[in-house]
Amino acid sequence: MSVVYNRVALIGLGLIASSMFWAIKRANAKDPLVGEVTGFARTEATRETARRIGLCDRVCDSAVEAVQDADLVVLCVPVGAMGSVMEEIGPHLKPGATLTDVGSVKRAVIDAVAPHLPEGVDFVPGHPLAGTEHSGPESGFATLFDNRWCLLIVPDGDEVVDTPASARLRTFWEALGANVDVMTADHHDLVLAVTSHTPHLIAYTMVGVADDLRRVTDSEVVKYSAAGFRDFTRIAASDPTMWRDVFLTNKDATLEILGRFTEELFALQRAIRTGDGQHLFDYFTRTRAIRRGIIDAGQDTSAPDFGRGGSRS
Ligand code: NAP
Repeated sequence: MSVVYNRVALIGLGLIASSMFWAIKRANAKDPLVGEVTGFARTEATRETARRIGLCDRVCDSAVEAVQDADLVVLCVPVGAMGSVMEEIGPHLKPGATLTDVGSVKRAVIDAVAPHLPEGVDFVPGHPLAGTEHSGPESGFATLFDNRWCLLIVPDGDEVVDTPASARLRTFWEALGANVDVMTADHHDLVLAVTSHTPHLIAYTMVGVADDLRRVTDSEVVKYSAAGFRDFTRIAASDPTMWRDVFLTNKDATLEILGRFTEELFALQRAIRTGDGQHLFDYFTRTRAIRRGIIDAGQDTSAPDFGRGGSRS
């Protein structure tokens, strides 16, 4: 494969950006993919860490410097920060460049970025469905995207098809190990509300409930936590800024799914109270079939993780 982008700029140097850099390095070792990777993070501390661990070929002291002459610019900051970052770098993007992002919500990012998008720059929003509960420049690793989905967003229309810019970005993500699908922004936000955002909220809630329940001591929770609860605690340890932004910006879809969730929960609550074993049995039989479908689709991870693998953020 010949070089896909001569220069890639990573804006924000946390888990996703650092994983992208290590995955680019791994890909470059096999076949040239990217010429040079520049990077920028807002704090001096993160930039220093990045320089110390060799993250990016060049760590810049400003976002404007990092995007200079870049063929691909990737916004890797929290969803709520995309607009202000874009306002700063927009006028400095090279004509013909592709702009993308990795945010967990798509409609809100498009609305925030679009006003600052200069003529001649293609914006292809993206979202790798891969992550961990860790953050920061030292948390990344080259295999994070292996065999995980990366969703690229194409404009609304009758047909959901690649544009030339999204086709090139698809080649890039595939070289980082991901499988790529395209969809529209609103559909993405609904799918993710079901597969990731609402499950995260449930995990946060369950951990909060255990913490509130004074009849069960904290040490008992830690000592006897079976797999389900342990997984909840890991998910609930995810970055608070990122998840605050996800819920504030994917409000409608999350509220719709939460509404449906509470209806189902009330039905199960009623079945338990009235001793309706058949209802419970039928319900669990149906959900077991869904689980088997996930395994058959090869999207199972060793432990439930609403986003690390088949289903994160
Ligand atoms: P992260 O590890 O917390 O890193 C975030 C980066 O953004 C840091 O470099 C941070 O800079 C910078 N940043 C934070 N607030 C900022 C602001 N207000 N203005 C400018 N820069 C700011 O985050 P991440 O997990 O890589 O997530 C980055 C993006 O990927 C988010 O949009 C998230 O929704 C998406 N995503 C995350 C996951 C996941 O599981 N983590 C999965 C898929 C997609 P400093 O370090 O200098 O503060």
